[in-house]
Amino acid sequence: MKKTLRYNYRLKPTLEQEAKLVEFGSYARGVWNLLLSENMRRYQYDKTFLFYNEMAALIKDLKQFEEFAWLKAFDSAASQQVARDLDAALKNSFNKKRLQKFPTFKVSFKQKKRHDDSFRCVNNANCIRIEKGAMSLPKIGKVPLVLHRKLASAIKTATIQMRHGKWYVSLTQEVKCKSAKKILSTLIGYDINSQLTVVGSNGWYVKNPKAFKKASGKLKQIQVQLSRRKKGSNRWHKTKSRLNTLHGKISRQRLAFAHEISCTIAKSSDIIVFEDLNVKGMQQFNGAMVNDNVMGMLTELVKYKAEVNGAVYHEIGRYVKSSGLCSCCTHEHKLGLGIREFECEKCGLVQCRDLAAAKSVANTGEKELIANGILVRALPKSQ
Ligand SMILES: [Zn+2]
Repeated sequence: MKKTLRYNYRLKPTLEQEAKLVEFGSYARGVWNLLLSENMRRYQYDKTFLFYNEMAALIKDLKQFEEFAWLKAFDSAASQQVARDLDAALKNSFNKKRLQKFPTFKVSFKQKKRHDDSFRCVNNANCIRIEKGAMSLPKIGKVPLVLHRKLASAIKTATIQMRHGKWYVSLTQEVKCKSAKKILSTLIGYDINSQLTVVGSNGWYVKNPKAFKKASGKLKQIQVQLSRRKKGSNRWHKTKSRLNTLHGKISRQRLAFAHEISCTIAKSSDIIVFEDLNVKGMQQFNGAMVNDNVMGMLTELVKYKAEVNGAVYHEIGRYVKSSGLCSCCTHEHKLGLGIREFECEKCGLVQCRDLAAAKSVANTGEKELIANGILVRALPKSQ
């Protein structure tokens, strides 16, 4: 089985290249807005929409007119990708299951100060390639890039975007998954507590990095500072850019943490069991923690990494209780948030709250997998 994965790399464009990248991003936005307004006009006229083929033909026709000369300056494969995205967005908005809104116009950075222009090139006939630390992009040239890891396979598409003042390219590549493991002999359940410490049922644990706490303190400090500045003033802009830089740093730290941990977890056992964190988030975590999407990110990453490794990823049913259960006799306890250790009322076993929760996640997961027919029989317990 093959899986399409995204890998992000830093780009370090020269000033001229950067101007070109900004320009291309605005072209992609222009194509989107043009096609969307054309679609709206068409709908008013005869209640139909333009789909990919018609949109691609329209782009081709418009290129001949002088006022659309900018379309010629843009990479034609990239403008077709915009048409594909709009096609998908239109179709999704009619699909009642997906609950997506009708696509909207994209606004420029000048109006909204949102850095969300991006464009996607397609690798036709090896036009996108990496040579000697630089990435060749159609109509842009060789942009220096930081190749922090080798390519997994051939590049399919490259999306270029600026985030928090830095340029990134996101490459889609097809990765071959290892064949699913035939013998499933190890299972580990994981619990994430409100302090963001991850605990495995085998006793492995990792603490929430202190860097997060430190950064969020700093974040608050700058936010207060910003609120005291006169909006639009020189100093306001300065503080604003500091805030943006810090946001970028925090999001990179989180991502690095999530990747590191998820990699360890995905390799740790044949079967990996997690709780449904959406529900848990609502029940247990306070608002700030739910916003902090590191938890959701972690399970997403573990899921795909396990798949690539041929392991089984399982999330236990939504309303199965896991915290406060004795790991020995499953007697239920009501525990306050502050209690980290408890003694079982029934069998007297003194246990760590998080470890007990992880163990009960593992037990529930095992039962569910046997019921689903994925596991044939209970696994031998090794303590
Ligand atoms: Zn007990």
